[in-house]
Amino acid sequence: MTIASRTGVLGGTFDPIHLGHLAVAHAATHALALARVLLLPSRLPPHRPVDASASPDDRFAMVTLAAKTDEHLVPSDLELRRTGPSYTADTLRALHAAGYDRWQLFFLTGADAFAEIAMWREYPAVLDLAHFVVCARPGTPVTTLRGRLPGLAARMCLLGAAGEVADDETRTRVFLLDSPTPDVSSTEIRARARAGRPLAGLVPPEVDSYIRRHGLYGAHPDAAASGSPAAGTLHE
Ligand code: ATP
Repeated sequence: MTIASRTGVLGGTFDPIHLGHLAVAHAATHALALARVLLLPSRLPPHRPVDASASPDDRFAMVTLAAKTDEHLVPSDLELRRTGPSYTADTLRALHAAGYDRWQLFFLTGADAFAEIAMWREYPAVLDLAHFVVCARPGTPVTTLRGRLPGLAARMCLLGAAGEVADDETRTRVFLLDSPTPDVSSTEIRARARAGRPLAGLVPPEVDSYIRRHGLYGAHPDAAASGSPAAGTLHE
């Protein structure tokens, strides 16, 4: 079976999933007319040390709650079901085996993560397994990537408002998506939860409630699950 519609794939530790992740999925969906975006929590972060402090089950439960906020979002436990670290190349090959054609697959990353692409397993061959879509992240504009990764500059293409992608291309591309996303990180959310500060405006309300109900990241179950939006107070 071949799944012949464009599919985005957003992997991450999602510890927890937050509005920055959802903004990336939303921007890519609209820029590229994606039929769906798979949200894939990773089993272990292979590229960078992360103090993953929620269990895989809790991370997946939060991703499932967040996916309910947008009909394009589909939670996937593909990486959680595998043993060992989650390498993007393995994930993309597993998706090919499941019927996703590489020309219809768009692997989404933030610009901060993509800037480290040379460290990824099977680089540069991994780039041939899907199109890549790199979204700006506060502090890492996509316009800096050609300079940071000169070897990939010829493959990069700034996505215009129309988001047209020729289907007869001979090579998968690296699309740069210069779309604003909120200045949110899972690290900051974990710190805020630990400190008993509000998470409203940083995560969907359902995820906020889940974090408190389960006491994740040291959050106190009795603390208010809502409050004044935290966005804008993150770096006070
Ligand atoms: P942590 O703070 O624990 O390192 P994180 O907030 O970076 O986590 P991840 O789950 O590691 O979240 O990110 C998954 C993907 O989403 C990565 O490609 C990352 O670059 C991207 N991403 C996360 N937050 C944003 C954001 N605010 N804007 C754009 N991209 C983002």
